[in-house]
Amino acid sequence: SLYFYKTDFVEKKGVNLTPDDRGYYFGDGIYEVFRVYNGRIYEQQAHMDRLQKSAADVRITLPYSLEQIGDILTKLVQLNELVEGTIYMQITRGEAPRAHPFPAEATPVLLAYTTEVKRPLTTIQNGIHAISLEDIRWLRCDLKTLNLLPNVMAKQTALDRGVQEVVLHRNGTVTECSASNFMIVKDNVLYTHPANNLILHGITRAVVLRLANALHIEVQEVPFTLEQLQQADEAFITGTTVEVTPVLTVDGSPIGTGQSGPVTRKLQLEFERTFAL
Ligand code: PMP
Repeated sequence: SLYFYKTDFVEKKGVNLTPDDRGYYFGDGIYEVFRVYNGRIYEQQAHMDRLQKSAADVRITLPYSLEQIGDILTKLVQLNELVEGTIYMQITRGEAPRAHPFPAEATPVLLAYTTEVKRPLTTIQNGIHAISLEDIRWLRCDLKTLNLLPNVMAKQTALDRGVQEVVLHRNGTVTECSASNFMIVKDNVLYTHPANNLILHGITRAVVLRLANALHIEVQEVPFTLEQLQQADEAFITGTTVEVTPVLTVDGSPIGTGQSGPVTRKLQLEFERTFAL
């Protein structure tokens, strides 16, 4: 399966990454993960808009226009004959000997590849368990940057404690998860953290909120606490790879019945209709 690296479609061994790539020394770059359903890139425009915002706010000049990047990704999917899977794409600030200031003349480096990772049908169906954990990340969680060490640490803490995900909170206020957004249902109202600087503005989150509106489910984009989470009727995560996955317990306590709930299931069914042919 081919990669796109800098200017060309190449085999993995043709990816001549250097340690001088600022992604390596500083995590100085941005990325996107796209889902491919039926050979088509899902919500491509929304991902492109987010990429543009991440790039602008970290002051990386994209090495290609958004349209050209779109063409590169489409070509990559075609060349790799990808039907169902994901595209990973990152853009780093460029290559230069290690020094904090932006290099005067460095060309941003685009790397993209595809995977054949399938939809996680078992957990979508059966749900997952989570623990709560303090959100110790910086104050620009809305930027999709390569600096994922806090997310990596949080995810591993979950796995070490025998659950699949963490619900991050700042002083008791729930933000999101290590690689997904988080929503609860209470008295048929859907609550999720507002799309500000403290969370990633998930593409799946936006799709699910649109679907909820269409289903006449009331949506409240307001912060809620761990206590309110424990009193909720349902909870679920949203993300490009996890789609809509029920969260059955948090810190060992069942949310609602401790089973996947009716609002979650309704949103899952509607979500599937957004990519089914
Ligand atoms: N929050 C975080 C921290 C993420 O890394 C992600 C992406 N995996 C999400 C939320 C979900 O965003 P999206 O729906 O765009 O995949």
